[in-house]
Amino acid sequence: MPVMEPKIEQPYAYMRHELVEPDWTRLPGWRHITATEWASAQWQRVNCIKNIKGLRALMGDLLTDAFYADLERDQAERATMSMLVTPQMMNTMVPVTGVYDDGVMPAAGQEYTRAFYADPVRRYMLPVFSDRRVDWPSHPYSTRDSLHEHDMWVAEGLTHRYPTKVLAELLSTCPQYCGHCTRMDLVGNSTPVIPKLKFDLKPVDRYDAMMAYLRATPAVRDVVVSGGDVANMPWKNLEAFLDRLLEIDNIRDIRLATKALMGLPQHWLAEDVVDGVGRVAAKARERGVSLAIHTHVNSAQSVTPAVAAAARAMLDAGVRDVRNQGVLMRGVNDSVKQLLDLCFALQDEAWITPYYFYMCDMIPFAEHWRLSLAEAQRLQHDIMGYLPGFATPRILCDVPFVGKRWVHQVDTYDTELGMSFWRKNYRTSIEAADTEALSREFVYYDPIYTLPESGQAWWREHGEVDAAHAAAEVSAAASREASIAQLA
Ligand code: SF4
Repeated sequence: MPVMEPKIEQPYAYMRHELVEPDWTRLPGWRHITATEWASAQWQRVNCIKNIKGLRALMGDLLTDAFYADLERDQAERATMSMLVTPQMMNTMVPVTGVYDDGVMPAAGQEYTRAFYADPVRRYMLPVFSDRRVDWPSHPYSTRDSLHEHDMWVAEGLTHRYPTKVLAELLSTCPQYCGHCTRMDLVGNSTPVIPKLKFDLKPVDRYDAMMAYLRATPAVRDVVVSGGDVANMPWKNLEAFLDRLLEIDNIRDIRLATKALMGLPQHWLAEDVVDGVGRVAAKARERGVSLAIHTHVNSAQSVTPAVAAAARAMLDAGVRDVRNQGVLMRGVNDSVKQLLDLCFALQDEAWITPYYFYMCDMIPFAEHWRLSLAEAQRLQHDIMGYLPGFATPRILCDVPFVGKRWVHQVDTYDTELGMSFWRKNYRTSIEAADTEALSREFVYYDPIYTLPESGQAWWREHGEVDAAHAAAEVSAAASREASIAQLA
């Protein structure tokens, strides 16, 4: 008897898409680049797009002069991150593969430029002035270190925010710089708008201080080894750091944070790196420690065969899991289809577990990317039930001074003023003596332009950052300076 396929129309129609590596030779500057050059991490690093001149050399007449002018103005007046895009990532913009587009190369000039403007990867890797809001480019309460990670440094670069886990920022560079980077305070080169904070200590002294803290703090069992991006650390130095971590009995989970698994998969496919990961993974297994890789993919078109091969190489080398923590952004992945297409590409084709999507943090000039809490809650609701439960990502709000909260955990929510109030069940490292920490409400703000007119009017009247808030910012900055000076 023939099997009848039930005809039920669903809000999201699942369809398997095989991964395709876009053809880089479609771009004028890379017409003669061979597959061997493309596969070389060194070639990828040397040929990153770092400025408008480099972008022009690559794209030829595909883009109009108006686009370059828009980008140039953004670099001068808005960008919080300097430009750095790997060839691998450039090649996924307007990919023309027929997977998520019609497979037809747009004509050079206006048509290509329109497609480039609309491209989700372009929107966060090469932001332009006209992308940003003009009414409220920044939320009045946006800050450079919006998660106050530096305030919670227990050693330079070591943030202790949650009871059992820490974040170790080993370095302040990445192979690629994302326009929306939460660590824009520290990561990357200074821009005309944002001078960057620099580490004071030499790396060797910084790592020693981190190790000393971890050895002396048995309550910490989980270390996120991050940056920046660990792919920018010479492997032998990273392996030495991981070996030291594995010597500490209380450390049970180690997570390596690297967007480069997607942005520069060639790095994680290099023989010396694969062998090195294998050595560390074997040691971790022997000691019963879970070693995982956490990456950062925001768009389905970024998941290519090279990315899947890098993830697979890491799993084969012995890491326990490769997980994705994306960032939810308007125009990038703010629809159910975009989110689920991405999650299925990760889960089915690349063996990367979709794990979290963070709401974009309240950094300067990020309002055009940010969604309201209500929008994030709706998306969380609408993606449930399609993926296996273990691969259904949670959408999170990273509430300043609280930490990650699932978007439905909000305590109270004023949708008119766009203020959500949150509570927490632990003290951060700066609240040891704070008796109110567990009963206080902490606030998070929606983008003002998403509010009803009455709420927007309220903010027009009260939108100046009040004196108390400004004073708190100054004192946080002063205490940070003081603690860094002390560590030095
Ligand atoms: S890779 Fe991560 S740390 Fe580096 S710029 Fe992007 S978001 Fe920031």
